[in-house]
Amino acid sequence: MAYKYIFGPVMSSRLGRSLGLDLLGGRVCSMDCLYCEVGATRTLTLERKPYVPAEDILEELAAWKNEDLGAPDMVTLGGLGEPCLNSEMAKVIEGARQLFPETDIAVLTNSTLMTDPEVRAELAQADVVLPSLDSLVDSEFASVNRPCSSITPEQVAEGLLQFRKEFSGKIFLEILLVDGVNDSEENLDRLTVFCKRLGPDRVDVVTTNRPGTVRGTSPVNGALLSRWRARLEVGKYQTCASKAEVLAEMSPERLTALVEASLSRRPQTVSQLAGALNVDSEAVRETVEALQEQGDVISREDRGETFYHGTGHVMEE
Ligand code: SF4
Repeated sequence: MAYKYIFGPVMSSRLGRSLGLDLLGGRVCSMDCLYCEVGATRTLTLERKPYVPAEDILEELAAWKNEDLGAPDMVTLGGLGEPCLNSEMAKVIEGARQLFPETDIAVLTNSTLMTDPEVRAELAQADVVLPSLDSLVDSEFASVNRPCSSITPEQVAEGLLQFRKEFSGKIFLEILLVDGVNDSEENLDRLTVFCKRLGPDRVDVVTTNRPGTVRGTSPVNGALLSRWRARLEVGKYQTCASKAEVLAEMSPERLTALVEASLSRRPQTVSQLAGALNVDSEAVRETVEALQEQGDVISREDRGETFYHGTGHVMEE
């Protein structure tokens, strides 16, 4: 089945095998970040609406579950913009929990709506919240995140501190640095003080590594990144590793069924399959080759890589 609002699962260093849900259905966001990998924001807004009704998302999630591809480590709300803008976010969290009672629910957020007590209460229903905050210097915040005009970094920081008091789950803060834009010493000093007050479970300092919305946006150099990390980074999330071990120990029959199901949906290389299923790539290779020998899987070379697909799947030229 082709899904509109579900993507993945993908392997994430922070979340394990994460199944993503898109709550916006388009480029709707309260920011228009220089580095955004999904492109320029089309609707820059703070208005909460059911951009995608919870019912539609949960219908797809139920269909995905019925494919029996194994529960993900995490169901992650995010997508093509800011998920907190969807006024039915709480319903999505509740429905996802009913469908996957053993799986943690995460929300990726740019933190701008945390000033709203209602949004904080909804977010507090998740198990993990991954807020971002790239700068506490007004001019840098405006340059790197290009938010709706009424948003200030001080308000965002206050909203996050308030949320920390109300939320018993985990907070993984992300700070993304763009060369010459938000990598000043003043920002580092302010974020250091802020992180001490917030006490997040984990802090990740990253830089741009793919083309963003704005051409010419560059990553910071490795030495600067290391210095920021030494000052700010904390925490290591362990839960996913234990779940990965369980998956690694799955039976050959179960692995064969998962590989077949995945290849019937789309062509993939061995490493893509291994990443999606969170299984050792050698085990996947052996399984794929056995299926190919039986005639259940076909391969095709494309740009130097071998893609495999089920015999029922038609490869796009
Ligand atoms: S907040 Fe996220 S989705 Fe919105 S523009 Fe920035 S990077 Fe893109």
